[in-house]
Amino acid sequence: MTLDEARALDAADPLAAYRAQFALPEGVIYLDGNSLGALPKATPAALADVATRQWGDRLIRSWNEGWIDAPQRIGAKIAPLIGAAADEVIIGDTTSTHLFKALVAALRANPDRHTVLSEAGNFPTDLHIAEGAVACVPGARLKVVARADLAEALDEDTAVLLLTHVHYKTGERFDMTAWTARAHDAGALMLWDLSHSVGAVPIDLNGADADLAVGCTYKYLNGGPGAPAFIYVATRWQDRLASPLSGWMGHAAPFAFEDAYRPAPGMKRWLAGTPAMLSTAALETALDLWADIDQHAVAAKSARLFDILAAAGDALGLDCVSPRDPAQRGSHISFRHPHAHAITQALIAHGVIGDFRDPDILRLGLTPLYLSHEDVWCAGEMLKKIVETGEWQNPQYSERLAVT
Ligand SMILES: *Cc1c(COP(=O)(O)O)cnc(C)c1O
Repeated sequence: MTLDEARALDAADPLAAYRAQFALPEGVIYLDGNSLGALPKATPAALADVATRQWGDRLIRSWNEGWIDAPQRIGAKIAPLIGAAADEVIIGDTTSTHLFKALVAALRANPDRHTVLSEAGNFPTDLHIAEGAVACVPGARLKVVARADLAEALDEDTAVLLLTHVHYKTGERFDMTAWTARAHDAGALMLWDLSHSVGAVPIDLNGADADLAVGCTYKYLNGGPGAPAFIYVATRWQDRLASPLSGWMGHAAPFAFEDAYRPAPGMKRWLAGTPAMLSTAALETALDLWADIDQHAVAAKSARLFDILAAAGDALGLDCVSPRDPAQRGSHISFRHPHAHAITQALIAHGVIGDFRDPDILRLGLTPLYLSHEDVWCAGEMLKKIVETGEWQNPQYSERLAVT
């Protein structure tokens, strides 16, 4: 691809106008929106309104002026992005906390079965939380196997299959319908982690007949650092599953101040404590951008952006570990290289922000709402320059920071 061809794609891009809705720094090509999404221009004013008017002026009255219902209202805004009904999603807590609640609830609902099955190399918190969840349910255990062995490991003891839809390192995507059916055929519940796929690829939880799902909102959804996560529970399970974190916000009548816990009907029972309204407001503002966006247009643009970087990698002979078939991946591209860390640092020094995933992965996120084809073309040229000149060998690029 040439620069002119990239520009021609931008001229015909149905999503091009969204870029103006984001505050991106000058001189930066941001390829890390899969880790921390960019700032929507509307967010600072929304946060200022929460701080000065809603909190400063309205004080506690704000709980009855839109705060108390925010978790469900915002869940309903996420629902169309994941193929769920409006009353099957709620936001709050973190993805890690939602995973814990969902796993313990699924194990308790299925007392004849004891195993949580997941994939080796899944995102660390998923496996760490699963370890903690099984320790809370007598007899439960965690089984972690390689992707190739998952189908065989599903058996009559599997209570729940926990899979991350799009792999955070390689970008590989599970076929949601096929794996949900496999879990169900084995008599297990299916729990999807959508952190790396929501806002990146079209998702249809209801179409796939999925039972449970959780996901991040600070990645492709641009909710802000540590934004509240979401949890989905299929309608058919809502009365049968209960959160082990039985906090007052999930009580049927929190302001009746009863001693005994009674779970609220519907999704509210998945709340535990008081919603964090500052970060909740930032998330809601970011989601309003998604209201008219066609997920298929996002996926189509993501595929073209991928091809631009894949071509740059091919020209350098790099080992691309992400699938070439767009239906089998998310919206990032990863290259394996023994010096991936130094290459990532050299790219960042030149304003191309990607990230490094231990031990040898250079990961570049492709966010169709605010990246142009030209941006991605320029990033590919910078990658070529850094690898071809060996500039990454400069000792300044080998220093490791706490967050890579
Ligand atoms: C980013 C990510 C998380 C993050 O969980 P937090 O609780 O928000 O830290 C969890 N799972 C997957 C698969 C992720 O990609």
